[in-house]
Amino acid sequence: MRYFTVESFSFDEPGHWSGEYRARHRWHLSGVDCPRYGIWSGLSAFPSVDLSAVDEPVLANPKGPTSLEEYNRLVALVRPFVPPELPVLAGGSFGPMVGTAQGRFGPVTCCPSWELILREDAVELLKAEGLQGIIAVRMELRSRRSTMPALYELEARPLAKLHPDCIGEFKTPACDICGKPESFRLPPKRWLLRSSIPEGLDFFGIKGASPRVVSERFVETVQRLGPSDVHYQELPAAD
Ligand SMILES: [Zn+2]
Repeated sequence: MRYFTVESFSFDEPGHWSGEYRARHRWHLSGVDCPRYGIWSGLSAFPSVDLSAVDEPVLANPKGPTSLEEYNRLVALVRPFVPPELPVLAGGSFGPMVGTAQGRFGPVTCCPSWELILREDAVELLKAEGLQGIIAVRMELRSRRSTMPALYELEARPLAKLHPDCIGEFKTPACDICGKPESFRLPPKRWLLRSSIPEGLDFFGIKGASPRVVSERFVETVQRLGPSDVHYQELPAAD
């Protein structure tokens, strides 16, 4: 199976679609001020996680970076509601995206690059064709147009790893004080560590990196619905 990352058009590239949304996830963990590394915050988002049972209003209205003590308190509140294989990290967001949308959307939208949005018919087709790893969460969007099709965010679980050879030595080690994972700058030329590819899945994320990965089967299936304003860039794999 071949794999691809999904990339948005550059700003001067003419697209087919006018759709834009302005939305954010329902719950957020703030950044944390770590005594060792200072303030940091990531971009992980797990829209399928429901935190409505957590009685803590600050998750819906985060106030900016917090102390380590407050951060640990919030992580402990959130952790029981997140599947154990998923990380709970500073800057992480949960629940459906809520906001507004306008214009017309193609089958696949990827702007910003760390959010992959599908039109309703794309979700239905991927499921009907039996693709795996499609965790699609309906966005709660208000629109002036009553006929706007529903949009879904795909949850990218960080399952695969970039190959250590393409990351090189520019890594920041993990922090045992605040739980910050090892981090690195996204290398311009990159490939996957083959043994880390979740076999059989048609959509997944990468540990420590924002690009979303789709299978060749995913690309072929959504292209049947017509053009999308995205590029698919092949992501090779090596042992
Ligand atoms: Zn730390």
